[in-house]
Amino acid sequence: MVPSGKFRITRQRQVILEELRKDTSHPTADEVCQRVRQKLPHISLGTVYRNLELLAEYGLIQKIELAGSQRRFDGNAETHYHIHCNRCGRVEDLPVRPFRINENSFRATTRFQITGHRVEFFGLCPKCRNESELTARTD
Ligand SMILES: [Zn+2]
Ligand SMILES: [Zn+2]
Repeated sequence: MVPSGKFRITRQRQVILEELRKDTSHPTADEVCQRVRQKLPHISLGTVYRNLELLAEYGLIQKIELAGSQRRFDGNAETHYHIHCNRCGRVEDLPVRPFRINENSFRATTRFQITGHRVEFFGLCPKCRNESELTARTD
């Protein structure tokens, strides 16, 4: 039987979604899998990965692809911005409201139908900052 293309919430997807929404650390697929296995011990990483991709495709979660780091997932599907640490790779939400850009105003010049935008911030997280200050001091 071929799926009709309509999205069905299976038990697996439900658990993946619930676990991801509880986790605000923007986990990788591996980390999501570890959490999900507490409820579905036999689920494979491949299944978790495929379902995460699918949930993102349907706009129920967000996929975070930052330059030079592992793909992460976010249970919060609303537009918001992220800041990530160049050293340890942690990702946090930036506490600012998204820019109010009328994406369709670019339509005439780009001839694209724009569906969203992404802004990326990066730097050193407090923990890594601390560590680099400590090493600077002892050197
Ligand atoms: Zn860091
Ligand atoms: Zn986020």
